[in-house]
Amino acid sequence: MHANLIPSGIPLAVMVLCLSLVSGTAAADWFKKTESIMGTQIHAEVWHENGIVAEQALAAVMSEMRRIDALMSPYKKTSELSLLNKNAHPSAYRVSSELFDLIKKSNRISELTHGAFDITYASVGRYYDYREAHRPADAQMEKALAAIDYRHLVFDNEKQAIRFAHESVYVDLGGIAKGYAVDRCINLLIDLGFSQAMVSAGGDSRIVGDHRGQPWSVGVKNPRDPQAMVAVLPLENTAISTSGDYERYFIEEGVRYHHILDPGTGQSAQSSRSVTILGEEATFTDALSTSVFVLGPAKGLALVNSLPGIDAIIIDGDGKLQFSDDLLQLED
Ligand code: ADP
Ligand code: MG
Repeated sequence: MHANLIPSGIPLAVMVLCLSLVSGTAAADWFKKTESIMGTQIHAEVWHENGIVAEQALAAVMSEMRRIDALMSPYKKTSELSLLNKNAHPSAYRVSSELFDLIKKSNRISELTHGAFDITYASVGRYYDYREAHRPADAQMEKALAAIDYRHLVFDNEKQAIRFAHESVYVDLGGIAKGYAVDRCINLLIDLGFSQAMVSAGGDSRIVGDHRGQPWSVGVKNPRDPQAMVAVLPLENTAISTSGDYERYFIEEGVRYHHILDPGTGQSAQSSRSVTILGEEATFTDALSTSVFVLGPAKGLALVNSLPGIDAIIIDGDGKLQFSDDLLQLED
C-alpha cells in the first residue's frame, strides 16, 4: 500500500502545509508588490495577518492600475482619452462618467490655479519628444499655443459629453491620472479592511495608517542628483506628490526642456527644480505639484498657504529649499 511507503511524520507535515495554505501565512507581515504600469513603477505595500488575502489585494491594486491606464493613456490608440482627442471636435463626444468627472475636476483645478494646471497643455506638449530631444518648431508652437485653454473644453452634463471648442485641442491627464489611480487603489484597500498600507505610482504616493507604530519615511530627491535625498519626511495618513524637472528632459544650449509646461507660453516652467505637495488625496496633490511648479515659488506658496491641509516643499530655481507656512512652524 502507498501509505506504507511514506515515512511516518510526512503526512503530518503535508497536513500542516495544507492548513497553512488555507489559512494564509500565520504571522502578520508586510506584503509588497512592484510592477511597471503607466510608464512608471507602481509599488504597493500592505500589512496583514493573512498572506493570501494580502496577495489578492495587491493583485487587485495592479489590475486597477492597468484598468485606469487602458482608459486614460494618451499612448494607447484605443484608450477612451485617445478616442476623445480624436472625436470631440466639432461635435461633442460622450465619455464614461469616470473620465467625464476627472476632466471636470481637472478644469476646477485650472480655475483654482488660474490656468497653471491645464490638461489642454498637451495641444503643444504632444509635439515634444524628450527621449529624442525634439521640441516643436516656432510656427508649430504658435499655432498650437492658441489651443491651450481649459475653457475650450465644453461640458454637456446631461449627455455626459465633452466638446473641444478649438480644432487643435489635445488633452493629456499626465498631471493628475497617477494621483487619481493611487486614490482609487487606496480606497480599494480601505474597503477591503486594510488599515496600514501604501501605494505609489512614480512620484505620487498615499499612505494609510502608520508603519507599525512608527511614521513612514518618504524622501524628497535632490533634483540634480536624484539618487540622493535633500529631506526625509516622517509621514502617516497622507498623500504626497513630487513634480521635478529631472524626470523627463533634455538640455539644448544650456536650456533644460522638461515635461512640465507653462500653459501661457508652451515652454518648460523654469522657476523651480522640484515641488513636493502634501495633502489628503493624491488626485489633488498630484495636480497641485504640477500647478505649483508652473506658478513658481512665490505664487505657488501663496496658493498652498491659502489651502487648508495642504503643504509644500519647493526646491527653487537656485536650488534653495522653500517651505509652506505650516512646515516652517514645525521647523521652529
Ligand atoms: P510625473 O509624476 O509624470 O513626473 P507630474 O505630476 O510632475 O508628473 O506631472 C507632469 C506631467 O503633467 C507631464 O508629463 C504632463 O503629462 C502633464 N503636464 C505638464 N504640464 C502640465 C500643465 N501645465 N498642466 C497640466 N498637466 C501638465
Ligand atoms: Mg503632478
